[in-house]
Amino acid sequence: MTAQIIDGKQIAGTLKDKIAAAITERSHAGLPVPGLATVLVGNDPPSQIYIKNKIRTCQELGIHSFSHTFPEETTQAALEELVLALNDDPLVHGILIQLPLPPHLDTFRLLSRINPQKDVDGIHPINAGLLSRKEGTPWFIPCTPAGILYLIQTVTPDISGLEAVVIGRSAIVGMPTAQLLCRHDATVTICHSKTRQLPDICRRGDIVVAAVGKSHLVKAAWIKPGAIVIDVGINRTPDLADPRGYHITGDTDFEAIRQTAKAITPVPGGVGPMTIAMLMQNTLTAAIRI
Ligand code: NDP
Repeated sequence: MTAQIIDGKQIAGTLKDKIAAAITERSHAGLPVPGLATVLVGNDPPSQIYIKNKIRTCQELGIHSFSHTFPEETTQAALEELVLALNDDPLVHGILIQLPLPPHLDTFRLLSRINPQKDVDGIHPINAGLLSRKEGTPWFIPCTPAGILYLIQTVTPDISGLEAVVIGRSAIVGMPTAQLLCRHDATVTICHSKTRQLPDICRRGDIVVAAVGKSHLVKAAWIKPGAIVIDVGINRTPDLADPRGYHITGDTDFEAIRQTAKAITPVPGGVGPMTIAMLMQNTLTAAIRI
């Protein structure tokens, strides 16, 4: 079997076209344009690229972006003050704090200051708590997990009863992805750095989501024939032939897994574009609700 390549770039492109059309329709109707405030602290190069891409996509889709960039040594108090001001700003419908923050800052405390109704990253403890309860309705689902589910459902719309293995349990990717798949009635196993027999557990998965940050960790022999494989990893692999000095790889052995899986996302061009599209969707949703 040669796997279907799940083209996240194309799927995200279609979604972004719909979002742009909805925004145009809103502005013709005299309704406010959605506004997204982004907060970047420090000089982490990948974070700078992610924020740049998010702001560029806002511009493409007609979303107002309000960019706040701070030096590494910014205090907790200054950032909390900004978040509280953004909560009160009627032009700002969504607030995104780019993670990770520098280590001297209390990330959990800062995220907790965001109004959950503007928490377009779905990471506020209230939204995270609501996601974990089947009867709960979070204001927002975190963007990467929402994108992962969207991509899976382009292959298999109904995942009820399927075995899903999620490798990684971070607050922004692994854990909410597992919760989201569980809410859609998959039978979910969460794996992490202390998991024993990871290959054996993976082989049970009708769906395998790799969100680790370790290049090519997941091998073809770990994948059940016919499984759907979602590769979330973004790893910089040194490459002197590339002008950047590195190229991007995922967490899976893509070429080998292609031979056995039913479908797989590429890196780049899989989950990454969907994360941004979902952020735009959440920002539009926030504006519609107000
Ligand atoms: P974290 O470092 O926060 O979490 C990594 C997770 O992987 C942890 O739960 C860790 O376990 C687990 N882990 C580490 N080593 C192993 C191992 N050998 N076997 C099994 N599990 C292991 O990373 P993130 O969740 O933030 O991101 C994961 C990857 O996804 C990164 O490459 C990141 O760049 C990428 N990413 C991509 C996005 C996109 O839009 N495409 C968006 C966000 C992230 P433990 O909990 O025990 O430490």
